[in-house]
Amino acid sequence: MVSRRLLLGALASGLAVPVLAWAEGDTPSVLTRKGRRTRRALKSHPSDKAALDKVLAEVKPLEGAEPVEAVHVEPPRVSPDEALGRLKQGNAIFSRGGASIALPGAARIAEMAAGQKPFAVIVGCSDSRVGPELIFDCNLGELFVVRVAGSTVGQEGLGSIVYAVEHLGAPLVVVLGHTKCGAVGAAVDVATKHIDLHGALLNMVLPILPAVLEAQERHPADLQDAAIRQNVRDTAARLKVADGVLAAKLAEGRLKIVSACYDLSTAQVAFDA
Ligand SMILES: [Zn+2]
Repeated sequence: MVSRRLLLGALASGLAVPVLAWAEGDTPSVLTRKGRRTRRALKSHPSDKAALDKVLAEVKPLEGAEPVEAVHVEPPRVSPDEALGRLKQGNAIFSRGGASIALPGAARIAEMAAGQKPFAVIVGCSDSRVGPELIFDCNLGELFVVRVAGSTVGQEGLGSIVYAVEHLGAPLVVVLGHTKCGAVGAAVDVATKHIDLHGALLNMVLPILPAVLEAQERHPADLQDAAIRQNVRDTAARLKVADGVLAAKLAEGRLKIVSACYDLSTAQVAFDA
């Protein structure tokens, strides 16, 4: 059994914390119901529901579609809220079974070789069903992704996040968990059934255990689900004070760090912001 003291010690030594990010990219295009490829700029503000509904109405799956040659448009720097809105729009499209992105052509790939400007950092779980680019309807070059089973963030992950924020200019970090997360489930089993884990697997679940214990105190009907949501909230909270660069940008309003949870059943992401 792992004691609370051991858990807190592991936490203090920097064993855990996950994060998400986003990046700027091409103006998205959509497929119309007539099968024509059209490029529709999603320039409207996220709060412009009418514009979003119009785009969603025209979306259909890309199955059988020919690749669309990318036309590069230098993306403007966006605010944290604009970045968050873009992720919400992308997930709305994906969860309805659509996709607005097209595979990048050779010209776009060559452009990206010169540099990247991701509009968000995504700190997610390694789970094969939660690919950030797909669930947020994003293309190459748009998301800076840090993934570890359980959506935790160690020192290497933290360094990756700081790099994306400080050097690539990403204005948003999203810590993304998901329903039925096996890593969190293992942490729940360690805490409640005293499952014996060793070595690397134990190191994987240790950063999650404080969230399990915290969730346990509320006596939730579904401890695993409560722990999943607590884990991403705790991770986001720790990130806000984990590094001076991140803290300074947060204070200046040039960065936002939020938590979120992806529902495997509905394909929808619920943000805590
Ligand atoms: Zn997971």
